[in-house]
Amino acid sequence: MERNAEYYAQGLARLIQIPTVVTEPPEIFERYHERLKEVFPHVFDTVEITKAGASDAEGDIFLQMAKRIGGISDPRFQSANPKGGNALILKWKGKSGEKPIALMGHQDVAPVEEKNWTYPPFEGRIVDGKLYGRGAIDCKNTAYLSLQAIEELIEEGFVPEHDVYFLSSDNEEMAGQGTPSSIKILKERGVHFSIIIDEGGAISTDLFAALKKPVAAVAVMEKGSSVFRFSAKSHGGHTSMPPKNTPWERLARLIVDVHSHRYFKPKVTPEVVAMLEGLSDAMGGPAKFLLKHAKWFKPLIQVAAPKINPTVNAMLSTVITFTMCEGSTLPNVIPNEAFIIANLRHSTHSNVAYAQKIFARLSKKYDVDVELVFGYDATVPVTVDNPGYRYVAQTIKEVLPDTAIVPFIQTGGTDSRHTPEIADAALRFTPFRISANQMGRMHGDDENIDVATLPEGVTFFKQLIRNYKGV
Ligand SMILES: [Zn+2]
Repeated sequence: MERNAEYYAQGLARLIQIPTVVTEPPEIFERYHERLKEVFPHVFDTVEITKAGASDAEGDIFLQMAKRIGGISDPRFQSANPKGGNALILKWKGKSGEKPIALMGHQDVAPVEEKNWTYPPFEGRIVDGKLYGRGAIDCKNTAYLSLQAIEELIEEGFVPEHDVYFLSSDNEEMAGQGTPSSIKILKERGVHFSIIIDEGGAISTDLFAALKKPVAAVAVMEKGSSVFRFSAKSHGGHTSMPPKNTPWERLARLIVDVHSHRYFKPKVTPEVVAMLEGLSDAMGGPAKFLLKHAKWFKPLIQVAAPKINPTVNAMLSTVITFTMCEGSTLPNVIPNEAFIIANLRHSTHSNVAYAQKIFARLSKKYDVDVELVFGYDATVPVTVDNPGYRYVAQTIKEVLPDTAIVPFIQTGGTDSRHTPEIADAALRFTPFRISANQMGRMHGDDENIDVATLPEGVTFFKQLIRNYKGV
């Protein structure tokens, strides 16, 4: 069969057909491995395969944390999968073990609300040039394009100059232990990558109206994340004779305080400047000039940009959202303890420690306890003169010459936040075209990908591997 867009779409559909929802027990991932072997026979005949997963103790830490934030009733935390055990490390031996590269793409997918889907989410149906299914853009496409590129290169008799790895965790969607476990193994083996490419960025075709070109967004860093628990205690009591300052009053004042002050200020950091300079290539008129010289206009951008939209705001600032709460179990009983949970996403300039300082002050003011449940800082940004970044950007320029290449700040989390310790350039980019509408369907209903964009994705990864002579 000729390898065209249709052929690739059918291959990707076969991966979608195994419902590797992150809440499923390990057997589903073993079935998925069997499917990978069928779709990529040459890959699995050639590579060294290692499976990775966390220890019981590491899995328990995850569950204890879930209990602390009250999330234990969420079915996701009841599955055994935070430990995993089916993360994959595939190693394709090259002529040299030095300066290896790694492609990544997790196996698990987000849960579905099946009744809301137009087509069954695990069928992989192709309608009007679009392939529908859970994982179509997050991120069985990333895995498919990477492995298909390796499959074709092996068939062509190609041997890479340097080792090429494919890393794939089985619990990315619950921030599980798949990738940390794999990294532990790679560190023990002394493996250090020049380049890692994971999911994250894509080619946005209609990000905003002023764009004159599609934007190839290569995420060069990822924001940090933390979860804080604020709790307020009382002696309980009946609602017929309420005392002053009940737990909920104090917690409500704290929420209002956080949302009426700008404790986390926006800042045009060097990585923001690099992103705006990259975007200028896709703009016309005065905006082009402004962005091209973002360095000069920092104060203006700092004030104006956060007001443009939530995405721009999130790229310039640490953001906070209150998400969960729990108090009394009866309507007429004052809670002995009530708590609320906040999730923060940290920019490089206001990290977890900075938030702790602010919350320590507020907790005194409102007589509540504050606890950091977990948190990690933003990754150190890969700069645009990093040789790994330059090599990837050069490959994009060759394969996708109509795009503007933009080093951007990933606001959500991916597995690759764990990888900077074993990589010189950890980047997040899958070469496929995506509209704003399609982007909005990630983790949502009717997730889909354009069939026509699949061949350029395979070509990109083939060229990236074929031309790689170390950086
Ligand atoms: Zn993903």
